[in-house]
Amino acid sequence: MITGSSHITDKQLILMEKNSMDIESHTVDHINLAQQFNPYILIHEMRDSKQYLINLGIKSNILILPNGGGSGNILYRLLVGKYYDYSRGQLYNIINNRNDYNLNLGFNRYNIPSIAIGNYTTQTEFESLINQMTLRNQIVIITYHRIENISDSYLTVSTAHFIQQMNYLKLSGVKTITLKQYLEGK
Ligand SMILES: [Zn+2]
Repeated sequence: MITGSSHITDKQLILMEKNSMDIESHTVDHINLAQQFNPYILIHEMRDSKQYLINLGIKSNILILPNGGGSGNILYRLLVGKYYDYSRGQLYNIINNRNDYNLNLGFNRYNIPSIAIGNYTTQTEFESLINQMTLRNQIVIITYHRIENISDSYLTVSTAHFIQQMNYLKLSGVKTITLKQYLEGK
């Protein structure tokens, strides 16, 4: 969520961008675009969050759909290409032996799948996902919603768990890049 967010300041966004982090749009009001059929609201959510970032000197070509929803909405699909080259769509939890989130298989630029890590994700699940990816030579996008010292919702990962997960990622030797780097290399 960009506008009016209490989690991050404009200054922090600019600093993160300067340090090679990939900052992308996540709409203005964080509404589920799957259930939004008013073209003016859809345009506002897409165009104005992009513009907000442009005003900070940040160019965003990817829309990260709130709750992963919107790609099934025909009006959304008609309008999104005017503002973005890609959107992160469908969200999955870690489920073993599923391939739906494998980017090697099929690619829809406006419904890019990703795995949502929350406080429901155990370290064992995380490690088995990484091992499975490595074995199958998969490309997977991992999404974190919030990271706080103490988890206050199912979407918030505690700092301790986040560090544990990042340590495993490093240990496993998996190559990590930003979504923008991946898409630009396509
Ligand atoms: Zn969100």
